[in-house]
Amino acid sequence: MHEFVYEALPSRVVFGLGSLERLADEVARLGLDKALVLSTPQQRVQAEDVARRLGDRSAGIYDKAEMHVPVEVAQAAREEAQRLGADACVAVGGGSTIGLGKAIALEFGLPIIAVPTTYAGSEMTPIWGLTEAGIKKTGRDKKVLPTTVVYDPALTGTLPAHIAAPSGMNAIAHCIEAMYSETANPIVSMMAEEGVRALARALPLVVREPENIGARTDALYGAYLAGASLGTVGMALHHKLCHTLGGSFNLPHADTHTIMIPHATAYNIGAAPDAKERLSRALETDNPAGALYDLAEFIGAKLALRDLGMTEADLDRAADIAVENPYYNPRPVTRESIRELLDNAYHGRRPAG
Ligand code: NAD
Repeated sequence: MHEFVYEALPSRVVFGLGSLERLADEVARLGLDKALVLSTPQQRVQAEDVARRLGDRSAGIYDKAEMHVPVEVAQAAREEAQRLGADACVAVGGGSTIGLGKAIALEFGLPIIAVPTTYAGSEMTPIWGLTEAGIKKTGRDKKVLPTTVVYDPALTGTLPAHIAAPSGMNAIAHCIEAMYSETANPIVSMMAEEGVRALARALPLVVREPENIGARTDALYGAYLAGASLGTVGMALHHKLCHTLGGSFNLPHADTHTIMIPHATAYNIGAAPDAKERLSRALETDNPAGALYDLAEFIGAKLALRDLGMTEADLDRAADIAVENPYYNPRPVTRESIRELLDNAYHGRRPAG
């Protein structure tokens, strides 16, 4: 056993089918009585259901959450929270809605009760993001970590396959990078391995049998482990590349993660023996990178950057940006090797063993 440092994050997690029934009690347990319910416009109906369940403890609904938390949306939501005298936020939705709750918490320190409905994992992390004039800034601050997370797989029943598939692959990517992070430790690696196993088993069923609540429960359990892994240890090449592609080329978040993770895994796995062993076990394969590509293909996800609207001419600039600032990665990062990785991802080639 190597030496390690593991700092657990203090969230309370309530998991299971029907756990939304417990939301009002969870809010009461924290002594909160004016919670602003947040959602996207598309999830207004779920937000109304949550507000109804909270009864007198609901201060109102703010339903304008948007991808990547534009500062204007964050500012408007903060003003609404102040106007209503909110003492908490209940964020019902995916990473965009929980991200909006974090933007409010960052300014006012309000507690967040998160009710996740995708597999993005933001609910388990102290990471915030805000986008101003097209540039996304991120940071870590413990005051944005949700106090309580209520995971009810029933809420993911409406998640269509084209969102569920890449969202699940995004969660797998969190697990994989956690295993070879600079701050990796055996506790988080154990959670990350179990996260990959649960998600890889569940996702094919989630997209093919939308009514299969057992598979939806497994996938959400995997997403919880993935979020907890992302929140506790640092990330590496894959997240750096996805941040570059999302930020500078405006590529969609979860689809980009889905396309890049087989290639980032192929790149790093030879330099990360513990991750290789864990991934081989979780995916029951001797070629984890190839198996991730096959999983993405099987669940109908996009496989090539060119399918997201990127052009071949962008690849040089993407490689330049990705190597601009040094960061930790188990295998050294060179411009030439990253350019080759991007070329493989652009064309959607299956990584060889
Ligand atoms: P999202 O929150 O933008 O949701 C995508 C769409 O799906 C939205 O229209 C949403 O309303 C809809 N949706 C969500 N759940 C649904 C459901 N159950 N049924 C029907 N529709 C549903 O997408 P996401 O992938 O969850 O989050 C992406 C954002 O989260 C990005 O901005 C990303 O950077 C951020 N993120 C942050 C962290 C973090 O730790 N801070 C972690 C992961 C992702």
